[in-house]
Amino acid sequence: MLKNPFTKNSLVNKYQSLINQINIFEDELKILTDSELRSKSFKLKKQYDAANSLDTVIAESFALTREASLRTLGLRHFDVQLLGGLVLNDKKIAEMKTGEGKTLVATLPASLNALTKKGVHIITVNDYLANRDQVSMGQIYRFLGLDTGLIQDGMSTSERKENYNADITYVTNYEVTFDFLRDNMALNISDVVLRPFNYCIIDEVDSILIDEAQTPLIISNNIPTPIEKYIVAAEISDYLELNSHYKVDEKNKNVILTEEGSKQIEKILRIQDLYDPRDPWIPYILNALKANALYFNNVHYIVQNNRIVIVDEFTGRIMPDRRWGDGLHQAIEAKEQLQIRQKTETVAAITYQNFFLLYPKLSGMTGTGKTAEIEFEKIYNLSVEEIPTARPTQRKDFPDLIYKDQFSKWNAIAQACNKISSTGQPILIGTTTVEKSEMLAQLLNEYKLSYQILNAKPENVRRESEIVAQAGKRGSITIATNMAGRGTDIILGGNINFKIQKKLYDILTLSKNYQIFKKENILESSIISQFEGSSQKFLSVLVSLLQDQKFLKLSDLDILRILRENDRISIPNISYQCSIRFLINELLSYNKKSQEQENLIVKNLGGLSIIGTERNDSRRVDNQLRGRCGRQGDPGTSRFFLSLDDNLLRLFGGPKIQNFMQTQIPDDSPLESEFITKSLDSAQERVEERAYQQRKNLFDYDDVLNKQRNIVYHERRQILESQSLQKNIFAYGEQIITELLLELREEKFSNKELITLVENLFGRNLILTQVRNLQSNINSFDLSELKLYLFNEFWLTYQSKIMELAVYGDGIIENLERSIILINTDRIWREHLQKMTLLREAVGWRGYGQRNPLYEYKQDAFYMFETREELLRHLVIYDLLRSSIL
Ligand code: ADP
Ligand code: MG
Repeated sequence: MLKNPFTKNSLVNKYQSLINQINIFEDELKILTDSELRSKSFKLKKQYDAANSLDTVIAESFALTREASLRTLGLRHFDVQLLGGLVLNDKKIAEMKTGEGKTLVATLPASLNALTKKGVHIITVNDYLANRDQVSMGQIYRFLGLDTGLIQDGMSTSERKENYNADITYVTNYEVTFDFLRDNMALNISDVVLRPFNYCIIDEVDSILIDEAQTPLIISNNIPTPIEKYIVAAEISDYLELNSHYKVDEKNKNVILTEEGSKQIEKILRIQDLYDPRDPWIPYILNALKANALYFNNVHYIVQNNRIVIVDEFTGRIMPDRRWGDGLHQAIEAKEQLQIRQKTETVAAITYQNFFLLYPKLSGMTGTGKTAEIEFEKIYNLSVEEIPTARPTQRKDFPDLIYKDQFSKWNAIAQACNKISSTGQPILIGTTTVEKSEMLAQLLNEYKLSYQILNAKPENVRRESEIVAQAGKRGSITIATNMAGRGTDIILGGNINFKIQKKLYDILTLSKNYQIFKKENILESSIISQFEGSSQKFLSVLVSLLQDQKFLKLSDLDILRILRENDRISIPNISYQCSIRFLINELLSYNKKSQEQENLIVKNLGGLSIIGTERNDSRRVDNQLRGRCGRQGDPGTSRFFLSLDDNLLRLFGGPKIQNFMQTQIPDDSPLESEFITKSLDSAQERVEERAYQQRKNLFDYDDVLNKQRNIVYHERRQILESQSLQKNIFAYGEQIITELLLELREEKFSNKELITLVENLFGRNLILTQVRNLQSNINSFDLSELKLYLFNEFWLTYQSKIMELAVYGDGIIENLERSIILINTDRIWREHLQKMTLLREAVGWRGYGQRNPLYEYKQDAFYMFETREELLRHLVIYDLLRSSIL
């Protein structure tokens, strides 16, 4: 039976009997040997094959995974973790607080669904986490006879393919989505890396399906860009005055030009019409103004290596691969006087929303899902289940403190840090921008406090995780953007794993390099002194490693990989891996005691103290920050320091707050006001609602394109997979002729024109004197005879092309046909995408009167799409009949 705290929970009731069954199985499995367990796993697979359903094997599979985890990692899934796993298997979102062990939870449904052999994807937010989770959880899967894959940035096609073929693959949302887009641009089936989608578990699901769902993922080509115009527009914007020449709408991130403004610009540029469609200036001017008035360095973007890199407003994290669209990015480059990069044309694009809906079985986990429940349900058809914590939470969330202005607020934060840290209690401060974190750092300097500051650069993800992991150490102060080190466990008293890895790395690489360069034997005594108190065995393993010639040849990076137990390295390193694992374990047990002591001390100090410096645009993000403390029943506190002129209140607080601002707060003393807190809550909800509507809107519009994309990708895949396309070619040719004749009957063109059209297409002269000489009415000759004649001509032309190419070898014609169809499919799709983008923009400003713009958009999109098959047929036949091998 499950114990408190959740006996009366209806979710628990629903799964109670399954959980009981798992526990019963566990008793049976406990007494088996490792190899007996493995054969159980094998039997389970057979059982699944026979029944062709997972339902009957859930309990036994979960029990097996739990036992495998206990024997490999020493971690036994708690009952609440079983509950989480069952929820994930039921295509839902499991909300489990930070530190509840979601990584381990995923192993349960993953192992179960791996029995299908159709693949399981576990999606993480960055490469570092994918690697970490695959390496650690891989041990459980391997024990069960399942293999795991890992996708990382920079991997080759064949590596990707191999890793996607594994039973369970760890991959980031970014990599898997791009692989999908690339697969659908492949000209050869052997370049396709993904298998058909099956089951997917998304970790940090709100971050991926909500925060990142705002912008589509795009693969693009460069196109010519009027760079001069951006530069001139940036210069002009300096001569324009706010309010008289243009107005700024901060809420909607928009600028509007006044009459006077337009005139002024036309005067400066000496042009007649700013809006002249043949030489339009208006988009450049508007973007330049936006760049000046609404987008700020170190807030919305940073300048890195002479490039504008977007900073995500929600997370403070930079997004190096994203660019603002519609010329805004170029306008900002012009403003910062950087080189202006080419505009790009979309070759393939998809939103995360539509991408993840491709999985027939989708699930997710997060610490903060409940406040976005409606969105998950409406868009993804995913319900959110709150899983109780294994131990009762002890975190205390103090009420917000509200200050008059930024100055008083930040001073108060610095003072609070000074006071809290005087006892040694660790502090984690969440900030929203790089600029603010640096400002706070300077304030802390004045108090002579030492701190760690995290900037959101992607190359620092690992370092970021290390720093965040140590945020629970006694006396540490960590300033981080809100989401920094997401997925990293903050252990009170510090995380010794990182510390030990680093110490070993330093000593191994140092002594290695010393040996290589000085060609001397290492000084055993110096090592011994560093590891004083270690066992004899420990020292002898260490010394023998450092005397091993092959080991000494490894690069520093290899050593780092072994230390991180990255098992994607080549087999010969395995032996070192064992030695190093032994060293790590020795150090761990040696340091365990001091870690436990430190842990206890920090607990007594009150655990981790979280300081929020601004309410975010969504409650979820605030909760993420709060959730960094109080893991697994640890003590901890959280408090937000706010100011009446924080963006959220200023923009969305309403007139009452403005009033309050002027009158109520006399000096530096803070206010704990029910009224303000409520206003903030509702402002936040309003912002969330708006953001949701925007995403919903994006989703609704993308829906049209999505259906079209599904059709194109489906057809494309059939072409890609087929051996011979002769039938298609015949059908194309005949259809073209039939259509031409239909049009002839409708008198869309003359007989002569018909002949020219067909000749152009076939690339040779037709005889057909009968038609050539015909002066009058088309009804005076037999259309079906003409049709037969043209069919025949087409077949002949096609046959002679085949013969011509056949001499170059087997399969040439098949490959050529396939490529021609694929390339033209892609070309038409690419052009369709550009047209759709234009249509989307046009819908924004086109007056529709009473009509619904979305409806109009769908109609137009439908017509635009319809013409594509006819176009494809023409292009393919034209290209094919003219092709030759050089
Ligand atoms: P989350 O992703 O939910 O924030 P993690 O997966 O990072 O949590 O796990 C947090 C910590 O809890 C890890 O150190 C992990 O080893 C530990 N943990 C998870 N499950 C268990 C368990 N059943 N027993 C003991 N420790 C566990
Ligand atoms: Mg996690």
